[in-house]
Amino acid sequence: MAQAVQELWPEAKVTIGPAIDNGFYYDFDKKEPFSDEDLRRIEKAMARIVQKNLPMKQFFMPRQEAKKYFADHNETYKVELIEGIPDEQVSIYKTGEEFTDLCKGPHVASTGLIKGFKLLSVAGAYWRGDESKPMLQRIYGTAFFSQKELDEYLKMLEEAGKRDHRKIATQLDLFHIYHETAGAGLVFYHPNGAMLRKTIEDYLRAQHLKHGYQLVMTPNILKGKLWEISGHAENYRENMYYFKVDDEDYVVKPMNCPGHILIYKSQTRSYRDLPIRYFELGTVYRQEKAGVLHGLLRVRGFTQDDAHIFLRPEQIKQEVMRVIDFVFETMNDFGFHDLHIELSTRPEKFMGAIPDWDKATAALKEALDAKALKYDINEGDGAFYGPKIDIKLKDAIGRQWQCGTIQCDFQLPERFEMNYVDESGNQARPVMLHRALLGSLERFIGTLIEHYAGNFPLWLAPNQVAVIPIKSDHQAFAEKVRGSLQQAGIRVVVDDRNESLSKRIREASVRKIPYSIIIGDKEVQASQVAVRLQNGTDLGSMAVDSLTARLKQQIVDKI
Ligand code: ZN
Repeated sequence: MAQAVQELWPEAKVTIGPAIDNGFYYDFDKKEPFSDEDLRRIEKAMARIVQKNLPMKQFFMPRQEAKKYFADHNETYKVELIEGIPDEQVSIYKTGEEFTDLCKGPHVASTGLIKGFKLLSVAGAYWRGDESKPMLQRIYGTAFFSQKELDEYLKMLEEAGKRDHRKIATQLDLFHIYHETAGAGLVFYHPNGAMLRKTIEDYLRAQHLKHGYQLVMTPNILKGKLWEISGHAENYRENMYYFKVDDEDYVVKPMNCPGHILIYKSQTRSYRDLPIRYFELGTVYRQEKAGVLHGLLRVRGFTQDDAHIFLRPEQIKQEVMRVIDFVFETMNDFGFHDLHIELSTRPEKFMGAIPDWDKATAALKEALDAKALKYDINEGDGAFYGPKIDIKLKDAIGRQWQCGTIQCDFQLPERFEMNYVDESGNQARPVMLHRALLGSLERFIGTLIEHYAGNFPLWLAPNQVAVIPIKSDHQAFAEKVRGSLQQAGIRVVVDDRNESLSKRIREASVRKIPYSIIIGDKEVQASQVAVRLQNGTDLGSMAVDSLTARLKQQIVDKI
């Protein structure tokens, strides 16, 4: 693509172009932004380059020589990049005789191997993500080994566009992010969104109590000192919001762990007390770059379904098996049946002793094996404080989303000098598990919206039933119906606006309310309701009691 762009606009400078999930991008320094028409023109030039089947060859050039080479070709960004490369020899790729680029590779052997590709969009991006640096033109594209795979991917993208949670959130009046007036990445839940979230929170609290967790609550602001003990001040500072109170540093909490540790440390703990499981719907704030914020999926303020489990080292396997069961049960309840598991092991930079790492990693493996689960191993991809298991869910259109995580931690118990009294009366150090089932409520709600395209199962739907009286004569009975459904815990709205019946039925369907009940003369006389499903299916007339029983069963079954 870079070669094609420079063929068409020789003055365009190349900068950086990495592979990303599902494709690639390349940033160009070019005055005029690329139009959609330009993208089609670039695609045609790319097809010609592919047709020529030009070899792509790697070679190495001494740094100084490479700097001079790119300076001579007016590629100032490449010169700057070479300055940041520590190696004496820099890697360069040459495509045929026509195009040379600084790249560490690897590349395909020749352009003819490139089959299905498409350029998808253009966006502005600052050089090195720095707003004080020049604005570049970023072209996003994707490539596959066959046209068929590309077509399938494009179809999925089209479907994803229809399910965009930001669009559906407006349609269902769920939430809003007021970038301009209130701040980027900060979510305002409207009544429907708040109801959806409350339903999820109630479910989570009840489930955690059932699974042997204790609920805790910790403050949202904590002294800077605490984050020095935890190591976050050193390793995570650029993501934390600092402010001063009486000349002392305070931090808006970016994580819940230190708070839970302080609760653990409030008493002497015995080996008999462990595992201790603390659960909090903990709201945290993290400074994320404006460029990566995206609806509910990447935000600056969010609530984690966060638990910390303190245990003896020999309890890791058993406890991880319990957490895995909990994840599967929870995901099944939310309608996700296809989970993918990854185990990440000791990275190059790590804290703690290798034997502890080995034991913990073995315990995680044994737990996964005991559950007969398939998983991928990401060697060296663990957190610096311990190995971890990540769980990803597959949504209705086959996309993977990160949800649960189970992380072993030897470091925080050490830093906070946590103890318990062991069987022989000696002080021993507990291991800590950080775990979340959903990840963050914001991100999970975004995932749910896209998975269901807004058609939530009844138990999650913010409004479960719309009651529509045909005329004003039917309002009294409609109110009675509302009362008895509400009494049964069903979420009801009455639409008695002076609009046509068909318009009100249509609107209830657009707002994805699972049930509509229509009340006219016949229904009032028979003391019944006419029931329709969101998809238009007519269930006919029934007594309010029968409808209530049906709804309650469906809510219990979470379907
Ligand atoms: Zn934690």
